[in-house]
Amino acid sequence: MIDIKISKVSNSRHGEVDFSNLVFGKEFSDHMFIADYDGKEWKNFRIQPYGPIPLSPSLSCMHYGQAIFEGMKAYRAIDNTIQIFRPYDNFKRMNESAERMCMQPVPEEVFIEGLKALCRMDSNWIPSNEGSALYLRPFLIATDDFLGIHPSSNYMFMIYGCSVGAYYNKPLKIKVETEFVRAVKGGVGEAKTAGNYASAMYATHIAEKEGFHQVLWTDAFEHKYLEELGSSNVFIVSGKTLITPASNGTVLKGVTRDSVIQLAKKYGYTVGERPISIDEVIELDKNGLLDEAFATGTAATVSPICELSYKGVSIHIKPKENSIAAELKSHLENIKRSKEEDVFGWNEKVVMTQTS
Ligand SMILES: *Cc1c(COP(=O)(O)O)cnc(C)c1O
Repeated sequence: MIDIKISKVSNSRHGEVDFSNLVFGKEFSDHMFIADYDGKEWKNFRIQPYGPIPLSPSLSCMHYGQAIFEGMKAYRAIDNTIQIFRPYDNFKRMNESAERMCMQPVPEEVFIEGLKALCRMDSNWIPSNEGSALYLRPFLIATDDFLGIHPSSNYMFMIYGCSVGAYYNKPLKIKVETEFVRAVKGGVGEAKTAGNYASAMYATHIAEKEGFHQVLWTDAFEHKYLEELGSSNVFIVSGKTLITPASNGTVLKGVTRDSVIQLAKKYGYTVGERPISIDEVIELDKNGLLDEAFATGTAATVSPICELSYKGVSIHIKPKENSIAAELKSHLENIKRSKEEDVFGWNEKVVMTQTS
């Protein structure tokens, strides 16, 4: 057990929030968790009011981008207990990102106990209405105060939370990107690192101006194989087969992606994790075999795709009754709130009586 020093807010903002009308990414809970690494050890575990932190202008993460993050959600189950969805998977992925970016890994107990302590502290920020949750954002930044380029010795690990409502997603209109690149083999596409999101903004901005919601990234060499959809993973459905790009260095290994794969296999689907070319998708469509396409990620869980535009030509995918996308989404939601049995052991309970 780590020893967490707690300083509470004097005035909670809880009363100012309309929990039935939450705007994604704006309603930060009252507190945040912080830990420091001084080049030797992790220390100063603390929970303090959410708010600005003093930063030196020469902080290395702001110049050279040693910054990684995670995202997951804590839910209020129907018996009113609190549980976090698959936090150990996020923990593992965070330290894989840390290794790739030459950053200090975070000990498991700091990550998990930090999450739980914040959930206990701000449990009233975890709404109970359908589809809502406390989004948890752990992140790690390099904090050396030094102009030179080298891996930092000092780090700060923080977690904050944000109350989020049900994510209503319109079926997505997608541009298959054939000019810009998100990731390349040997690069950092598999790490959840800040620079990946900055470098994706330009292409996304252009696609949005053209009337699309997002871009579907393709491989860096031929722009032929599908990779990811914005910052979500992508799936193609044909009959009782699900196909998703293999995560071989350029695709982020989504926890939702993995959950969807496991559930679909349980439903009796065949799941192929392999290269999928845009030509294969076009061919499926021509033969009437392209049933569904969807994106997966923590924020929206499962989002159906209704249009894929490739070099100016669109494939339209008609919304279906009883789609697997909708079934997966509601099944996942039900597991997270304990409305259906958690056969995979994905929920991590937050015991409320502990006082750390
Ligand atoms: C976070 C992320 C995903 C989705 O991962 P989840 O664990 O399912 O939320 C997919 N692709 C990218 C690039 C991401 O950053």
